[in-house]
Amino acid sequence: MHDSLFARIEAKRDDLVELTRDLIRFPTVNPPGEAYTPCAEFLGNRLTARGFDVGYHRGEGEAGDSDRYPRTNVVARKEGTRPGPCIHFNGHIDVVSVGQGWTVAPFEGLVRDGKVYGRGACDMKGGLAAAVIAVEALLEERNDLPGALEVSGTVDEETGGYGGVGYLAKQGFFSRPRVDHVIIPEPLNVDRVCIGHRGVWWAEIETRGRIAHGSMPFLGDCAVRHMGAFLQKLESELYPALAEKHTDMPVVPEGARQSTLNINSIHGGLSEDFDGLPAPLVPDSCRLVLDRRYLIEEDPEEVKREIVALLEGLKHDRQGFDYALREVLAFQPTMTDPEAPVVRAVSEAIEEVLGRPAEQVVSPGTYDQKHIVRVGHLEDCIAYGPGILDLAHQPDEYVGIDDMVASAKVMAAATLALLGTAPGR
Ligand SMILES: [Zn+2]
Repeated sequence: MHDSLFARIEAKRDDLVELTRDLIRFPTVNPPGEAYTPCAEFLGNRLTARGFDVGYHRGEGEAGDSDRYPRTNVVARKEGTRPGPCIHFNGHIDVVSVGQGWTVAPFEGLVRDGKVYGRGACDMKGGLAAAVIAVEALLEERNDLPGALEVSGTVDEETGGYGGVGYLAKQGFFSRPRVDHVIIPEPLNVDRVCIGHRGVWWAEIETRGRIAHGSMPFLGDCAVRHMGAFLQKLESELYPALAEKHTDMPVVPEGARQSTLNINSIHGGLSEDFDGLPAPLVPDSCRLVLDRRYLIEEDPEEVKREIVALLEGLKHDRQGFDYALREVLAFQPTMTDPEAPVVRAVSEAIEEVLGRPAEQVVSPGTYDQKHIVRVGHLEDCIAYGPGILDLAHQPDEYVGIDDMVASAKVMAAATLALLGTAPGR
């Protein structure tokens, strides 16, 4: 049905690979937010040369933004020949830190065995490059498209997206009438449409004690033992309760179809900074950071209340127990209607390109869709991209070239469907 368009995308295979490599070569590590501006400008220059109106939008005043590490976002827009819907492709340009265990150079974009390697290859510079190629091929194929096409490269997704999509959403970049449909090429596998994500609530809990000589602990009050009591409560009461909470959201992998709780870190000791020899002291502080992922069926307030109830119970029952709770991060779950236009268009295009039905999934984690839905009030948003979900953030991360080409075809065909135009010549 889209033979000519797909042939054009096939012919851009090398261009797609080179674009992905070029993007990987910007070490846009976040935190702290390295090389954002040159990476955004690289993307902006490319799209300017293809007739897009390009703007740079710094997430000024948002977390992490500084003159040394400006949160530079790029938004490019190409108007069609007549009124119609706007389809927006959004990719984050930031990557997580490199970490240990690599056998290839993380910022060189090595090509081997049909794959491009590098930090961010999968999550999600390969997806962003595929979106750019899809849009460029469409514009070459058809000079009569209605509506508008937009591509954005945004920052800080890996740290919550406040300086990126969050900031742009507050400025109206992700609201009607400017934008109608959004596709985020995050790595959810080439044959899956991701319609949303679970909710997340991070909190830091501190138990407090009283310092004393370690040889006479009975004269103090041990903050670590108080935290131990809280951990016991989690094991005996909360974990069993969470295992009972199942969702109808099609979350992948299956293990994430229930509520989950991770304990990210625990630190006990003296509350003041101490960098000498181990001291014979009863610790007066213990801090724990928890990461609670919850379901669309759950009430966010209830998620918090469950934890507070355990802490208050201990305060009542356990002598000397005192605590402080600080909320670190909170995002509500989101899920696009499986019948929404963008879901249907991408699902049908997947079937056309890959010859198998698309799977609709929900991400166990979170991504920038939350800002688009909650701040921009735009429901017609999904994640769809070529990378393999499990490779994100791993050493020797890569993206498959065949998958990138296939996803570019899917994005281009879905765009045509959403623009409501007949297939090309
Ligand atoms: Zn990502």
